[in-house]
Amino acid sequence: MEARRLAILYSHLCPFRSPSVPSLSSIVSPSACAPQSKETFPHDCVFCQIIRGDSPAFKLYEDDMCLCILDTRPLSPGHSLIIPKSHFPSLDTTPPSVVAAMCSKVPFISNAIIKVTGADSFNLLVNNGVAAGQVVFHVIACGLLRYA
Ligand SMILES: [Zn+2]
Repeated sequence: MEARRLAILYSHLCPFRSPSVPSLSSIVSPSACAPQSKETFPHDCVFCQIIRGDSPAFKLYEDDMCLCILDTRPLSPGHSLIIPKSHFPSLDTTPPSVVAAMCSKVPFISNAIIKVTGADSFNLLVNNGVAAGQVVFHVIACGLLRYA
């Protein structure tokens, strides 16, 4: 059931890539981004590991600046993360062009996720700093789906 739901979600986000429903193994894969230096992708950062392809993730969307994945510990169905492909520890250290690239994906990704999950609305969150609940110091935007 979950594989089918994820495949439907994938088909909404990548409608022109494949006319058939892809297998789960074809969409849970390492990022295809180009190799980078350790300074760009620190070894101990879980999101850099996903971007390097060292850790698997269920990718919803990817371009040259950002990756969107499903959270491995979702707070609700469709809980997703928009991650810049360069390592910035916090929102205030992230260049405006990268923040803009992350935010520009929100309408496209959220519309697809809401369509598939039937969610009523969503929160877009950035936990910025320890006191705000940030636990991994690679800036991300969380899309947290809400159901009435
Ligand atoms: Zn990182």
